[in-house]
Amino acid sequence: MSTSEALLAELAGLIKIWGRELGFQQIGITDCHLEEHGERLTAWLRAGHHGTMEWMAAHGEKRWRPGLLEPNTLRVISASLDYLPPDTAPVRILKDSSKAYVSRYATGRDYHKLIRKRLAHLAQKIELFCNARGLHCSGRAFTDSAPVMERALAEKAGLGWIGKNCMVLSENAGSWFFLGEVYTSLALPVDDKPQRNQCGDCTACLKVCPTDAFVGPYQLDARRCISYLTIENLGPIPEEFREPMGNRVFGCDDCQIICPWNRFAKPTAETDFHPRHGLDNGELSQLFRWDEEEFLRKTAGSAIRRIGYERWRRNLAVAIGNSEPGPEVIGLLEQALPSASALVAEHIRWALARLRSGRHRKRKLRRPQ
Ligand code: SF4
Repeated sequence: MSTSEALLAELAGLIKIWGRELGFQQIGITDCHLEEHGERLTAWLRAGHHGTMEWMAAHGEKRWRPGLLEPNTLRVISASLDYLPPDTAPVRILKDSSKAYVSRYATGRDYHKLIRKRLAHLAQKIELFCNARGLHCSGRAFTDSAPVMERALAEKAGLGWIGKNCMVLSENAGSWFFLGEVYTSLALPVDDKPQRNQCGDCTACLKVCPTDAFVGPYQLDARRCISYLTIENLGPIPEEFREPMGNRVFGCDDCQIICPWNRFAKPTAETDFHPRHGLDNGELSQLFRWDEEEFLRKTAGSAIRRIGYERWRRNLAVAIGNSEPGPEVIGLLEQALPSASALVAEHIRWALARLRSGRHRKRKLRRPQ
């Protein structure tokens, strides 16, 4: 082994230690060969499964050729940070139609800043190590902020395997975690012990999906996914998905909740990810009463902020339309109708029609038990 290989091996070991010191639960190193994943992404885009997420197609090969995004990149350090809040009760909330279900990643503070800051710190430690030993290096930290194939990189780095629900599943941590990366110019030794795909014959995630968003195992039509419909979709929610949405007002976790590997998920110790303003357990009617000023105040620093007040109310109107009818909720919607935007008003009218007709009771909704 040459001196520089020995230094890089030492550094790879230190990166794992530093990563854990910075709070990451899993950390691994991989090369940049993502061509196979690039082909799958191209086929997915060609099928139009990305819907209006044009940014998924916008960067072309940069996504699966890390060196085109960050010149000189030879390796990627992939890191995961658990986010499942403690004492969370997702199934109880899903079963209570008076409550608003917010995806568990979004009930606390937004993760981007926190993760990017820690990864930048990791990159800095790497740089200091190199500078002290006369090694040249460059690097850059990302978390869901650039055209990066996060899941593919995590799988290659040994953090888990991409499951049938398209999430990274880990035998140690389930799937309730965020991912982040450091692209580096250093030829670090890679982690060549990937976790074996252990989905086996299980198809629980495919069957539980309320909107049948899986075209097949490992293939998601985002246009049908409640996460897409409630967050990415700017316009009206297509009628066929409104009833299956149930009370999910920001994202959906059903295909994670049902996954048996999530028995191994551990609650996060990060207080930033603990629920704020009761967003893990909010009453639909109470949230619908928020005016824009209250929405902006209570979602400051939260991922929910990005959908804005109008889409928030659009989603709430649908969920209220799926709740138990009663004079209070009907009155609430009627009162909101005259001042609502065209988008929200159309969803309120849909909700009122359902509540007045009692149609919401006819179908048994699919959800994890
Ligand atoms: S997040 Fe929900 S809607 Fe989207 S694929 Fe999973 S179960 Fe289906």
